[in-house]
Amino acid sequence: MRDPQILIVGAGPTGLVMALWLAKLGVPFRIIEKNGGPGQTSRAMAVHARTLEFYRQLGIADEVVRRGIKVERMRLHEGGGDGSVLNFSDFGKGLSPYPFILTFPQDEHERLLGERLHAMGVQVEWNTELSGFTDAGDHIEAILKADGKEEKCATSFLCGCDGAHSAVREGLKLKFPGGIYEQMFFVADLAADGAPANGDVNFFLGTHQLCLTFPIRTTGMVRLIGILPREVAGRENVVFDDIREHFEKMLSLHVHKVNWFSTYHVHHRVAEHFRLGRVFLSGDAGHVHSPAGGQGMNTGIGDAVNLSWKLAAVLARKADYSLIDTYETERIAFAHSLVSTTDRLFRAVVQENLAGEIVRSILFSHVIPFLMGFSPIRSSQFRLISQTRISYRHSPLSEGNAGDVRGGDRLPWVETDDGANFAPLTSLDWQVHVYGQASQALRRAASDANLALHEFAWKAPAEHAGLERDALYLVRPDGHIALANSKQDVEKLRQFLSKFKITPFHATSSANN
Ligand SMILES: Cc1cc2nc3c(=O)[nH]c(=O)nc-3n(C[C@H](O)[C@H](O)[C@H](O)COP(=O)(O)OP(=O)(O)OC[C@H]3O[C@@H](n4cnc5c(N)ncnc54)[C@H](O)[C@@H]3O)c2cc1C
Repeated sequence: MRDPQILIVGAGPTGLVMALWLAKLGVPFRIIEKNGGPGQTSRAMAVHARTLEFYRQLGIADEVVRRGIKVERMRLHEGGGDGSVLNFSDFGKGLSPYPFILTFPQDEHERLLGERLHAMGVQVEWNTELSGFTDAGDHIEAILKADGKEEKCATSFLCGCDGAHSAVREGLKLKFPGGIYEQMFFVADLAADGAPANGDVNFFLGTHQLCLTFPIRTTGMVRLIGILPREVAGRENVVFDDIREHFEKMLSLHVHKVNWFSTYHVHHRVAEHFRLGRVFLSGDAGHVHSPAGGQGMNTGIGDAVNLSWKLAAVLARKADYSLIDTYETERIAFAHSLVSTTDRLFRAVVQENLAGEIVRSILFSHVIPFLMGFSPIRSSQFRLISQTRISYRHSPLSEGNAGDVRGGDRLPWVETDDGANFAPLTSLDWQVHVYGQASQALRRAASDANLALHEFAWKAPAEHAGLERDALYLVRPDGHIALANSKQDVEKLRQFLSKFKITPFHATSSANN
């Protein structure tokens, strides 16, 4: 087997998306997985808009949307009551081409990513485990074990996408500080009928009680995640029958068959670093947290995208080596804020004191449904949950502002007459956007730098999205703004590109949209 430039350890969603991005950019890599095939359990259900936007860049968003289920409503049941209904249809209207929450079981999701990789000529190396590695300064020497045999593999970069018990993190001797929730969680895939099999997401909440039901595409199937009741949580080897009566009564559900049941403890932790030398951590290897908001898998996918294009650029000598420093700066900051938000939210809803009662009975049953009726609040909640709000304003790679948009922000989505401004992002390359008209000087500068220049007619949706007429927006391969400049200052553009020695992946010509 040839030595790859990048070795990806782990074929969960994080490793698979990294592989897809690198494959599309033509970077030689290997992806190894110690299991014999794709994951068999449906763990992460929620696929958020920002993930779908990345998938659109990879050309797989339509298929994921087709195979998943759009969540139209969430029914909130507090203290056993019928509760209120949150309407999620067109939740993020005008903010993303994917203004909804999608559910798509993780096992099916991983299979689809694997199929797409296979179609691009890349095979996941199953039954192959990373058993050790050393950093030789200018490369990494990895030791792989497959079929009882050991193989040495030299690689420029090693990416640990190997989950919460990451061998890569342990090999780096990095601490994984945080804690563990006292509650024991469970997950069950059931054949059942009754109210929660209604195609909606149902959220049942009570003192020390939390259970969510998700629809699954197969008729009569329902997916449950929740906290084990106290009287059962202390027992060894809990099976579904131990909680059947409790949950059948609580959820008004009749279970015919249990396809999968598992219990687990949830940790909230962030690794000390996401990078040491030529070795990186992405996904659960770097951060784990409560399932509140279904953010874990989506965050791992965001890590994978952020790292892939930077490694690809450095390997192709299309950017300065220092570009890869920005991976940790950008992603660890988000991981810390996510872990603390999900932790606060989780503790608030499960706490047993009076404050917990208030959160559940007043906020949950009345205030949240009321507030979600207001468009600005719905929009801000969509931006938070969907991860479209993620911004890298403090990154060394972010500069300037124009309109409401600052360097580091995700490029706002704008619907145009002939599509939308996200269409050119499928190039996975640097590009300049102007909403209005580009000057001759900017045209020349973009052409000299081999940058695609996309001009979009100035229309009301661009203004609503916070963009400024005729401003210059330099867009990164992952759809974030690197440089925003009101005056189309080409000197600023040149300085920015030369600071990181940035050259686009593909030579291009100007384009009008
Ligand atoms: C019940 C449950 C519900 C969840 N719901 C959601 C949700 O709704 N939304 C959401 O976003 N997230 C959710 N999550 C979290 C989500 O499942 C994880 O965040 C996600 O799986 C992380 O993906 P990953 O690729 O980083 O890691 P993993 O999925 O853990 O993949 C790591 C892979 O690396 C392999 N590996 C490990 N060590 C080695 C080695 N030494 N050599 C080779 N291979 C190795 C493993 O076998 C594994 O396949 C949920 C989790 C659980 C448990």
